[in-house]
Amino acid sequence: MSGASSNVSGGSSGSSCGRPRRIVGVPKKCWCGEQNVALISKSDHNPYRRYYRCAFAASKKLVNDNHNFKWVDEALLDEIEKLQLKNSRLEQVLEELRATESMIFEKLEKETFDRVEDVLVEANRKMKKVVLLGVVGCLLVVGIMSLLR
Ligand SMILES: [Zn+2]
Repeated sequence: MSGASSNVSGGSSGSSCGRPRRIVGVPKKCWCGEQNVALISKSDHNPYRRYYRCAFAASKKLVNDNHNFKWVDEALLDEIEKLQLKNSRLEQVLEELRATESMIFEKLEKETFDRVEDVLVEANRKMKKVVLLGVVGCLLVVGIMSLLR
């Protein structure tokens, strides 16, 4: 109810000039060190539109300054875009991880298989030797027995 001073200075059109940088997403802190506050626009152009504003600029009711100003809906859209970008990047990383995992798994599987095979072959060879020795032993015993008889 305080007239012109309570109106939002930054419309979507005229506010961009003289601003040092475009704020992407929800602004964290103004360059002047002040936190941002969430306010509701009372301007004719954007009635009841919510915006973030540098607390200092808001308290001093500054107009046409270069302190933080960002529409909340635009900020949230930025955040969603950022999340989508992050999401697709994460998906890519996940994809790479999965590929690496299956590669490692395949390698491990192959190595394990090879090792098991080696062990089996070795065991088989030993077993054959034992069987052979047993057969030879038996034959020897039989031969000696028949000689003694
Ligand atoms: Zn500021």
